[in-house]
Amino acid sequence: MKSHHDISRMYINGRWVGANSHATFPVYNPSNGEKIGDVADGNRDDAQKAIHAAQEAFGLWSGRTAYARSKYLHKAYQVMMDSKEHLARVMTQEQGKPLKASRGEIQYGADFLLWYAEEAKRIYGETIPAPRSDQRFIVLRQPVGVVAAITPWNYPMSMITRKVAPALAAGCTIVLKPAEATPLCAIEIFKIFEKAGIPAGVVNLVTALNPAPIGEVFATHPMIRKITFTGSTQVGKILAKKAADQVKHVSLELGGHAPFIVFEDSDPVYAAKGAVLVKFLNTGQACISPNRIFVHQSIIEPFIEEFKSRVSKMLAGSGFEDGVSIGPLVNDAAIQKVERQVRDAVDQGATLICGGQRLKDNDLDKGFFYAPTLLGGVTPNMLIYREETFGPVAPVITFNTDEEVLEMANDTNYGLAAYVYTRSLSRAMRMFEGLRFGIVGINDINPTAAAAPFGGMKESGLGREGGRDGIAEYLETKLGGFSI
Ligand code: ADP
Repeated sequence: MKSHHDISRMYINGRWVGANSHATFPVYNPSNGEKIGDVADGNRDDAQKAIHAAQEAFGLWSGRTAYARSKYLHKAYQVMMDSKEHLARVMTQEQGKPLKASRGEIQYGADFLLWYAEEAKRIYGETIPAPRSDQRFIVLRQPVGVVAAITPWNYPMSMITRKVAPALAAGCTIVLKPAEATPLCAIEIFKIFEKAGIPAGVVNLVTALNPAPIGEVFATHPMIRKITFTGSTQVGKILAKKAADQVKHVSLELGGHAPFIVFEDSDPVYAAKGAVLVKFLNTGQACISPNRIFVHQSIIEPFIEEFKSRVSKMLAGSGFEDGVSIGPLVNDAAIQKVERQVRDAVDQGATLICGGQRLKDNDLDKGFFYAPTLLGGVTPNMLIYREETFGPVAPVITFNTDEEVLEMANDTNYGLAAYVYTRSLSRAMRMFEGLRFGIVGINDINPTAAAAPFGGMKESGLGREGGRDGIAEYLETKLGGFSI
């Protein structure tokens, strides 16, 4: 049996604490099924304690100068950069992604701390000309109050800093529940906040195996003024409905179904390289992962050939091994979802060009590995054409005209990311303007950065994270009318 001290704890009111109930839950390595830790299993009481701590701290934190808040964020950035290698190893062990990808995520995550350390000092108000000569209008931007955040397992560190950094910069305090698959990553990030000296109660972490009761407390507790969530559209809707009762602010980063459009004037080899890189990033477990690859009929052959040749060289395995680019999926349910979509597509006439099976050799059966897969001849009646995949499957669809492909690309309830490959400036501009997606990459597979607004249209979400828009999510506008 593990001793009490081996349990990874929650961070509430500046202290590392076990769950009120003393319950714990295990965490596993998705590459080999090995248990890697036990974590405090918080419940409603713990969530409430954390909210009270954040409420208590709000007055002092929001009362500090922007310069003081900025200093803490700068310090957190430094500590995070100093611990980069350690953090990357924790992430690869718990989430499964290759070490190189973990390092990349840590840099991306740290960038938010740095960017919002600067932006804290630029929360400007306004003066507005008033209609009466004895009147003055002044606009203030104030923190919304205590924030509740829920984060996912696919980017288990950067999704935390992407929320916490702007919230703290704005003057908000926060309670956060990470995904049950990756609590150890969250704990490491909160150790950084502790080391940076962020005062007690300003940032609070509640870990739990069962997310629903914690989500319920977050969405219904009167002290919470804002919910920020990254995860599935289904859960986002549940939270938004509950939060509506008290008209809480809500930001949602939800699912996606990104089109990746390759026009006939682009280089099919270059486009295929980009498509492979972004499709298999994080083993397809990203909300901006291409879910429908539209290729012009006239260049389908060279595109498929290059795509297939690149996929055949991809190595699956533990993220600690050199040369591995395909990590595990998060759990068995994720494998089953991919299997169902591939089976459905093939049954309805799609061509399986490569992959299409769970990987079992070389001990991979101990983890959740699925071969990188290419499907040709995909049509709108197939599940994969509508459902988010969240796995390493690339469905290719052919098209003939610009109008046709724009209509097909927009024919989805999602609206997060879209990608376009073309050498024509006017075509690029028409697509950029016509695609109903929050992020459009033109010959660019990585249109994200701490300075840029990330977020979706339609059922992909509400609000933006990153950049100036990202801090606005944590601020309220107050108008002062002065009669003089
Ligand atoms: P995925 O299906 O990709 O795991 P989820 O939306 O289920 O996405 O998970 C994203 C986050 O939402 C995780 O932190 C998870 O614990 C949390 N979550 C899942 N279900 C609920 C719920 N009913 N209420 C609140 N949070 C939830």
